[in-house]
Amino acid sequence: METANYSPERFGCHVFGDEVMKERLPEEVYASIMRTVATGTEIDPTIADVVASAMKEWAIEMGATHYTHWFQPLTGVTAEKHDAFLSPVSRSQAVMEFSGKELIKGESDASSFPTGGLRATFEARGYTAWDPASFAFVKEGTLYIPTAFCSYTGEALDTKTPLIRSMDALSRHAVRVLRLFGDKETARVNVTVGAEQEYFLIDRKDYDSRPDLLYTGRTLFGAPAPKGQQLDDHYFGPLKTRVSQFMQDLDRELWDLGIFSKTKHNEVAPSQHELAPVFTTANLAIDQNLLTMVTMKRVAERHGLVCLLHEKPFAGVNGSGKHNNWSISTDGGKNLLKPGKTPSENTQFLLFLAAVIKAVDDYQDLLRLSVASASNDHRLGAGEAPPAIVSMFIGDDLSSVVASIVAGETHRDAKRGVMNLHTPSIPLFAKDTTDRNRTSPFAFTGNKFEFRMVGSSQNVAMPNIVLNTAVAESLRLFADELEAAESFDEALRALIRRTFAEHERIIFNGNGYSEEWRQEAARRGLECYPTAVDVFPRLTHPKNVALFEEHGVMSVSELTSRREVLFENYEKILNIEACTMTHMATKEYIPAVTAYITDLCHTVNEKRAAAPGISCRMEEEIITRLSRLAERAYDLTDNLKAETASAATQGDIESIAIAYKERVLPVMEELRATVDAMEEYTPTDYWPMATYGQLTFGVQ
Ligand code: ADP
Ligand code: MG
Repeated sequence: METANYSPERFGCHVFGDEVMKERLPEEVYASIMRTVATGTEIDPTIADVVASAMKEWAIEMGATHYTHWFQPLTGVTAEKHDAFLSPVSRSQAVMEFSGKELIKGESDASSFPTGGLRATFEARGYTAWDPASFAFVKEGTLYIPTAFCSYTGEALDTKTPLIRSMDALSRHAVRVLRLFGDKETARVNVTVGAEQEYFLIDRKDYDSRPDLLYTGRTLFGAPAPKGQQLDDHYFGPLKTRVSQFMQDLDRELWDLGIFSKTKHNEVAPSQHELAPVFTTANLAIDQNLLTMVTMKRVAERHGLVCLLHEKPFAGVNGSGKHNNWSISTDGGKNLLKPGKTPSENTQFLLFLAAVIKAVDDYQDLLRLSVASASNDHRLGAGEAPPAIVSMFIGDDLSSVVASIVAGETHRDAKRGVMNLHTPSIPLFAKDTTDRNRTSPFAFTGNKFEFRMVGSSQNVAMPNIVLNTAVAESLRLFADELEAAESFDEALRALIRRTFAEHERIIFNGNGYSEEWRQEAARRGLECYPTAVDVFPRLTHPKNVALFEEHGVMSVSELTSRREVLFENYEKILNIEACTMTHMATKEYIPAVTAYITDLCHTVNEKRAAAPGISCRMEEEIITRLSRLAERAYDLTDNLKAETASAATQGDIESIAIAYKERVLPVMEELRATVDAMEEYTPTDYWPMATYGQLTFGVQ
């Protein structure tokens, strides 16, 4: 493929971004939008008509004929409904129209999206509302307008609304704390997010042969290929031509959409890759991550590939996560999590660090919950991703700062050493003061935290909602205490010391994959929720309801409905997987093996007819072994149907979900093992599906 130069002027050409707005909007309208974006305060509704008209003109120039409110219902993916700008002026004449009213408010059928009981089907009205803090963009002939989504009664039915509320809460209390340190300028503290996206790329024709990938996004069957990731030769390995072409094409599309796609490389598992963007404000970063995922799938199609975003598409090799890099900075651009050269003397940094440590310890359950799903259950704690126990890595340096503060000793900050490779031609460079830890669920990486439990297919709003709100709560308590203190300095030091002492247990710098850590974590009293259904109920635990209500992020009814949606979603995913397995075993695997057995029987008969008394031991053994396995698979499909039916009768959704985990999942695993054993004895020609080898090594 020829690669034309990418001119930086092109960047963001499909986005109704700051520069386009500045150019096309009257000065005071532009200023009003910028004010709203910078301060998170109300938008002046009288400007809507002007903005709508400028947006429409621009979008039409970009080739758009339609517009859509683009929103994030609780399905985990985005939703859109396209309306033409076209409007009739007579029976045979039309104009292109788009009003401020249409920009600000859209209506949709709320009851057809997951609502967790908030909306009954007979009271279906729902609204979408323009979010001016994110960017509108044009894609495939449609103007996309990022919006929030709520019910007729005003309850949030999406992920964006509570996210924005949580960003506001954090800003409010962070600014209070900054005032105590003498900062008079900062009006807003922003949350920044950079989401590193892992994914798999496989060949379209192999994908097409697999109903499991089509219906569930992961392989439900498949014997291991002779080679997996043992040699570590895929991680950062050279890119195959087709993959590299896909990545180039993807980057260009993302850049046109104003998304700073920055880093790309091969990941650990064969056919696994990663894309990392440059971070930006949380709200925009999340919209952009969702848009990135959709774009990856679309661009892959053009290259005869399929992009798999599932957390565990293949058993036996690593699954995919999405590291959520998170930090906070002032509107003046100062990163509040930057330790500086002498962190032990930087009390403002230490206080913000203490706020995060306290938040993670106090709300371990919510952080765990924010990444819990049927699909991420296959990954967390499997020795390839962080364990299901939440802990924090802050590095040796900061750990020793914390330890000396707790012990009341003075601390000497480490100096950065120089790396000398003893090869004169290679320049010397400064070493970091601390090493990295790949196994930690929540790691401090210089001036940000990296939350690593997040799943690749997830909308990262919920992890950020939890983080923002929990840190807002720490800061609220800190500000209350410090504002009331007689001596700020004394109170500050006491508060930092007390907080570190109370929450030191959450800090763990060792190997999070080890069994010893599991035991040590239990000794420390850390919480452990091995699976999604174990942690879902925590969403409405009184301490968590109090947290979200205190900060106006989610009401008890919004939380209750979300808890319901989590369980429903879990149950539906397992139900689809169980049905797909029955379908594949009955329609594909058992008939394929039967055909092979039949052919072997003919071979035996023909061999004996040709040479009476000849040995047919091999054929007989294969026939016997495969017949036994096929019969077992047949029985297991019956069991699976019975267990699925019985799970459905368990009453409330939570009992149903638990029945799926405890009774259906084990049968699924046994059925898989049986079919995978059949695969090992069946020749390629008879096997109806692409094998693991083809799927993971098929892209050349
Ligand atoms: P690392 O070496 O820790 O991987 P990188 O600079 O490569 O750090 O960044 C990894 C990801 O973290 C990128 O997506 C990057 O944009 C993001 N990131 C960097 N700084 C911040 C920050 N202050 N806030 C949020 N995300 C950040
Ligand atoms: Mg990283």
